[in-house]
Amino acid sequence: MIPLKQFCRSAVRTTVRSISTTNAVASNSSEIPANGYHFELNETQREIFETAKKFAREEIIPVAAHYDETGTRPDELVKKAWSIGLMNGSIPEYLGGMNQSVFTECLVQEALSWGCSGITLAIMGSGLGQVPVVLAGNKEQQKKYLGRLLEEPIVAAYAVTEPGAGSDVNGVRTKAEKKGDEYILNGQKMWITNGGVANWYFVLARTDPDPKAPASKAFTGFIVDRDTPGLTPGRKENMMGQRASDTRGITFEDVRVPKENVLIGEGAGFKIAMGVFDKTRAPVAAVGVGIAQRALDEASKYSLERKAFGVPISQHQAVAFILADMAIGVETARLAYMKSAWEVDSGKKNPSYMASIAKAYGSEIANKCASDAVQIFGGSGYNKDYPVEKLMRDAKILQIYEGTSQIQRLIISRAVLAHAKESN
Ligand SMILES: Cc1cc2nc3c(=O)[nH]c(=O)nc-3n(C[C@H](O)[C@H](O)[C@H](O)COP(=O)(O)OP(=O)(O)OC[C@H]3O[C@@H](n4cnc5c(N)ncnc54)[C@H](O)[C@@H]3O)c2cc1C
Repeated sequence: MIPLKQFCRSAVRTTVRSISTTNAVASNSSEIPANGYHFELNETQREIFETAKKFAREEIIPVAAHYDETGTRPDELVKKAWSIGLMNGSIPEYLGGMNQSVFTECLVQEALSWGCSGITLAIMGSGLGQVPVVLAGNKEQQKKYLGRLLEEPIVAAYAVTEPGAGSDVNGVRTKAEKKGDEYILNGQKMWITNGGVANWYFVLARTDPDPKAPASKAFTGFIVDRDTPGLTPGRKENMMGQRASDTRGITFEDVRVPKENVLIGEGAGFKIAMGVFDKTRAPVAAVGVGIAQRALDEASKYSLERKAFGVPISQHQAVAFILADMAIGVETARLAYMKSAWEVDSGKKNPSYMASIAKAYGSEIANKCASDAVQIFGGSGYNKDYPVEKLMRDAKILQIYEGTSQIQRLIISRAVLAHAKESN
């Protein structure tokens, strides 16, 4: 596995060499341009993308409608994906993991989501629970909890949202009280991906009872084992889309968590919970691109076959232009997630701005392209026997989870205005 950083470094070296030998910006179009942008995947990335795409084509697509219809989790597919190394990419190398870049994870997410984004969430959703431990776990915590995920095909979950606290994470009411060497957790979480099947959870709870305490000090992040007495997942939610994924509420009643399971320390939870999104929003955007690409592929194929007024509908310019607009969206949303992932992987400061742009844009392009595909399919697009109505249902959640599109715009506009104030 070649980490992206190494890939970037070698690209820079090639550029420097070409500049120093020609003593000018390379005129040969095969040279990497001097501005540092590079639009080609390396061999390893291409291979990973192709492996995931093959998995989507051969394993996911044939069963996607079944899991959508039944709303069941594809346990066997998750095991298969685990066995060929599509899961747990971000686990550090010292534990036997791949220490994959966010960029590479995005490629996997895009390729799998092209098959079915609900099954992709069942396969990849564990990553959201893992990232807090990758970012903030000590060696013992990482070894115990991330190590487990490499030993068998089990998954983790990220439990922050509550019935009364979604966008406003400061509203989290689940509380953790310290008693001796333990914390006692009481409260309720809502809409938790992998809620019923996770082996362990990252849980955000309030440790400072003072309602005026700032969010940056009031919350603590815990790792909580699934089999801890008092922890009870609710029923599987009946979702509009991404129905193969297991989404549930979770109740905590006097759940005893050892102090060794606190991440970093008391009060550090909010920062950990929010810090995760820099690494996970580009992958959500990549899911959007996968959906949008599939919508474009299905709609283009259909437009060549379906005839109206004596010709294939692709020959009606109004239809062809819808396809062109879909392609514009797919290509630009892909660039946005790639830039966001690159910023995180290369350690750029404040990657949240680009992560929010990629996430907001990728999810909107997914919704637009899915809706456009339904339009091109006409009446057939509205029918469950064709693949595009599912894309439309699946795409909608991208504008809601991991920060709604409105919350992304809050982040983006704050960054824009802060920059404007600085340059005044
Ligand atoms: C399928 C699914 C899976 C999920 N998985 C997880 C998970 O694994 N872990 C987890 O912790 N959570 C998860 N969630 C929860 C998800 O992150 C929240 O639903 C989301 O953050 C929105 O919160 P909310 O539903 O409470 O909506 P609210 O926060 O109540 O928002 C309602 C509306 O008001 C808007 N709004 C709110 N505040 C503002 C503001 N300040 N400015 C402008 N508009 C605003 C929102 O954009 C939205 O349109 C999941 C949700 C779903 C549906």
